Amino acid sequence: MATWMDWSCSKCDFVFHGAGEHSALRSGTTTSIYCEGCEDVMDVLDAPPPWRRDKEAPVEPLACDHDKRHAIRPWTAKEPCPHCGEGTMIPDERTARCVD
Ligand SMILES: [Zn+2]
Ligand SMILES: [Zn+2]
Repeated sequence: MATWMDWSCSKCDFVFHGAGEHSALRSGTTTSIYCEGCEDVMDVLDAPPPWRRDKEAPVEPLACDHDKRHAIRPWTAKEPCPHCGEGTMIPDERTARCVD
């Protein structure tokens, strides 16, 4: 289970929707990345669920959901805004919803 919500930067107009940190879903664990190509934060699977880990091929490297050629970097909402590099990300609790 993870809680996804809207996060907005205190300095610029950057907004993303997601967990903003490492979390565990039924389909596996996810981690947050920032894609330089899409200029967006996304939560991507970084490992399959435990019961599949032995049988499946090794986990693919982290990549953008939209285009694997995009340059990405790991990022969490505790770090400064990935867009302007200055602001802090502020969660909007009213938009929170649970995903699993
Ligand atoms: Zn991308
Ligand atoms: Zn910003």
